[in-house]
Amino acid sequence: MEIKVMQNVLKANDVFADQTAELLKAKGIRLLNLIGSPGAGKTSVLELMIPLLKDKGLRIAVIEGDCATARDAQRIAVLDVPVVQINTGNGCHLDARQIGTVMTEFPLEDIDMVIIENVGNLVCPTGFDLGADEKIAVISVTEGDDKPLKYPRIFHEAKMVILTKIDLIPYTNFSLQRFTDALRSIRQDQELFLLSCTTGEGAEKLVERFWM
Ligand code: MG
Ligand code: ZN
Repeated sequence: MEIKVMQNVLKANDVFADQTAELLKAKGIRLLNLIGSPGAGKTSVLELMIPLLKDKGLRIAVIEGDCATARDAQRIAVLDVPVVQINTGNGCHLDARQIGTVMTEFPLEDIDMVIIENVGNLVCPTGFDLGADEKIAVISVTEGDDKPLKYPRIFHEAKMVILTKIDLIPYTNFSLQRFTDALRSIRQDQELFLLSCTTGEGAEKLVERFWM
């Protein structure tokens, strides 16, 4: 019986995800779902990228997911883009119903791209479709080069991986070769972007990819 309930929950989620996907497709809006551990640097990636993308004329809106506080939404709001914070309490991921509700609050006619920063978690946000065009995995050097092997599902579903904090590589035992080998063992066509939000290294390449 419990399994049946769980299936219904997931099915309901997919109905909302499909609605969001259809709505945004009709309006020509891309939806990205950023997934990564707490402290991977997801918000820092947004802080770095949003001004650069705005310079290119891309109109962005952001949905922030966290258990508590509006800290990340406050960091994004100073960039002068529409942002909504979802607090999940004990919830460890955002679901498609929450995303669908937020879409009714955004000025969709004036938006080209919505970026979701999911609740910090490498595991279960992967299992909930939010209607996004793509999932993007964000992982930092300090998490270790073996994480793709230990948490393969997100790296299987995310074609695009952003490795953050690359300026810290000299101070850790992180091996870029081991990391790349691990990624390739999961998915051959993975696009890996190296980034330092401190120095800005790698930002231009990422802008080109987001701009596609
Ligand atoms: Mg954050
Ligand atoms: Zn969860």
